[in-house]
Amino acid sequence: MTKHNVLRTRFAPSPTGLLHLGNVYSALQCEAWAKENRAELLLRIEDIDYMRCKAEFTQQIMDDLTWLGIAFDEEPSFQSSRLALYKNALDTLIDKGVLYPCFCTRKDIQETTIRHGSLDNYPKTCLTLSSEDIRILKQSKPFSWRLNTHAVQSMLGDSQYWLNGCQEKVLFQVSEIGDVIIGRKDIQYSYHLAVVVDDAAQGITHVIRGEDLKSSTPAHRILQQLLGYDSPLYIHHGLLMQTTDEKLSKSKQAFALKALREQGLTLIEVRNRLKNLTPP
Ligand code: GLU
Repeated sequence: MTKHNVLRTRFAPSPTGLLHLGNVYSALQCEAWAKENRAELLLRIEDIDYMRCKAEFTQQIMDDLTWLGIAFDEEPSFQSSRLALYKNALDTLIDKGVLYPCFCTRKDIQETTIRHGSLDNYPKTCLTLSSEDIRILKQSKPFSWRLNTHAVQSMLGDSQYWLNGCQEKVLFQVSEIGDVIIGRKDIQYSYHLAVVVDDAAQGITHVIRGEDLKSSTPAHRILQQLLGYDSPLYIHHGLLMQTTDEKLSKSKQAFALKALREQGLTLIEVRNRLKNLTPP
């Protein structure tokens, strides 16, 4: 149990667009789980990406959540006001020697990837730079910080796991994660870093989120270990959009809650519509 001594989960939308039915479904999953387990439910606005996030979306999301009648146990938190925490965590990881600077542009990576075959992961081009190369490059080029999975492997071992909602181990290999970006070139931090810092700082015991984020869970578990955090349990729910016809996923905006509200849909109708669309 955490310092809060209570079960806690969170709904953590990114205000890069309007809340659509897929997001609403996710929010309702968090709410239902919290009710069933007498857990606290928090709202976290994940707005570190200041180039894509907009205040008007944040406002509309909060308004939609109120309209849905979802009650949160605390005032919402905003990642944009917690940047100092992410900086500390980034510095800790740099000091531990588990990150390395990467100067590659998107184009560099595409070209190397094509040359070396169909690699999904970053081809680790910058891992082998000498400290002298790094010193010189840092003077003229922006860079990101990547996870050095080689270093992590020798520190923690390759075989790892995270725990699902039933406390069962879900196994993974560190070598499969790839050298993901932890500190972005543009906005300094990454989703992976911020989410892990906040889940720990807010005493989140259960993360309930869509299956689309399942592939990020190994990286999150590794960051928690490196930063000395407790790990929450992870429950990944099915995705609404995937189980419905093409049209629905192609026209997300038409399924924005705002649009449905403007068409005059009632709360009951929205909930019913979601019930009909619920993934198996
Ligand atoms: N902000 C993320 C999103 O909207 C969700 C983060 C999470 O639940 O871990 O996709």
